[in-house]
Amino acid sequence: MKKQDNERNFKDPVCGMEVSRLTAIEEMEYQGKTYYFCSGGCREAFEAEPEKYLRQHRQHGMR
Ligand SMILES: [Zn+2]
Repeated sequence: MKKQDNERNFKDPVCGMEVSRLTAIEEMEYQGKTYYFCSGGCREAFEAEPEKYLRQHRQHGMR
């Protein structure tokens, strides 16, 4: 049996690791979306420069 929403996987936008609501260590809301992180370090990095990680996601390979 598959559980839906509760065990959906999210991608840690900083390191790219897959985390779920259950395994995520940290979470943070940004612009109405909740992001999940594998560690406090990843959350801090995202918090410092969220645009950098979100943009990186969309424009592959560009800095
Ligand atoms: Zn991470």
